[in-house]
Amino acid sequence: MKLNFLGACRQVGKSCILAQLGEVRLLLDCGLRVHTEHLAPALQQHKFDACVLSHAHLDHSGATPLAAREGKGPVFATFPTIPIAQLLLEDNEKVSLRNHRALPFKKQDVKRLHSKFFGLPYGLPYEFYDGTRFRFVDAGHIIGAAQVLVEHKSKRLLYSGDLNGGETRMHAAAKPPEDASEGVDALIVESTYANREHPPRDELERRFCNEVQRCIDDDCVALLPCFAVGRTQEILQVLHANRLRGDVFLQGMGATVSEISLDFPSYVKNAGMLNAALNRAKRIETREQRQRVVEKPCAIVATAGMLDGGPVLSYLQALNKRGKGEVFLTGFQVPGTNGSLLAAGEKIWVNERSRREKIVLPFSQWDFSAHSGKKELLDYVKRVNAGRVFCMHGDAAVCVEFARELREQHGFDAVAPLEEEKFTV
Ligand SMILES: [Zn+2]
Ligand SMILES: [Zn+2]
Repeated sequence: MKLNFLGACRQVGKSCILAQLGEVRLLLDCGLRVHTEHLAPALQQHKFDACVLSHAHLDHSGATPLAAREGKGPVFATFPTIPIAQLLLEDNEKVSLRNHRALPFKKQDVKRLHSKFFGLPYGLPYEFYDGTRFRFVDAGHIIGAAQVLVEHKSKRLLYSGDLNGGETRMHAAAKPPEDASEGVDALIVESTYANREHPPRDELERRFCNEVQRCIDDDCVALLPCFAVGRTQEILQVLHANRLRGDVFLQGMGATVSEISLDFPSYVKNAGMLNAALNRAKRIETREQRQRVVEKPCAIVATAGMLDGGPVLSYLQALNKRGKGEVFLTGFQVPGTNGSLLAAGEKIWVNERSRREKIVLPFSQWDFSAHSGKKELLDYVKRVNAGRVFCMHGDAAVCVEFARELREQHGFDAVAPLEEEKFTV
């Protein structure tokens, strides 16, 4: 098989791999690096027949309109990935327009993509004319997230996509495909947290809910910025399952993604629990509701998770003025985002990056990661036991060190590929 790494090499962002096992050339993911400027994989120089999307996050799906334009074939994805990717692409279009940041594709490319999506469930193989087959396997990361197992004759490639080997409220812990033990020639594995462990989930949940409860009992508003996909649904369930006392409000794209998630109950660990948690949260629809809600103690779950736009920014400003609030950051804050500025004690951007404001509210950061920690990644690599291992999707030092550890301590033939680096396996 031939592999060419087109993105997410020694970094997170624009995940994209060109893989050819038989005659069919597959593009595994086609992501966009978003937080600074929009960087897409250089597809014009490559030929491919179809695109296989591991999940809806923009660092994997953000440049699929380019793939739809440059490639002839369909864009394969699991059923929930399609509407969520469409929603995220649409939102990114709006935000980019507002912030005067050019996208590397046109509106009609996004339209073309919608007609090229081809939905598949987990586990059902799709076979091309030359006998190349692939199937999606649950990756436990966000709804619809998949590992991709590609086969041609006796050659097999496994792409982890973004993986969570730990159990969450939303998803069961991901495992490699059952038949991986029969032999995998090449494994492409994400390395986001290959250098550290996450805290035990039950203990994290308990501490988090205790702190949110303390804030409400102190007559304050607990502002919970959450990513729209995954984290919003996770945090609503965490609060519900731990019997938080007080009102919970919900606003932003996270509410829409929650509704979409309920359309695919079999892709969620406990749809009944998600439904109950959602029913408990009161929706904020109008500006009047938004103004009123900050006047009484409560918890507000709002998009966006890194404070870069969305309703969370207006809550933040209102609470900053009143001085009776506390911010609970529920995810990793990419450097340069408002969330990272807040965490560093610096002024954050309000009003579409035209004005900066110092936030004086107390804040804390909570590691509700949707990615495997170090031990889970190592377990995964050992269970797959592939002939060659490619470590990508992580900071440069982390990818390089993970590959070195796999080579020197565990005897794997592992590398952290560079962009446009080609391999024959
Ligand atoms: Zn992801
Ligand atoms: Zn990713």
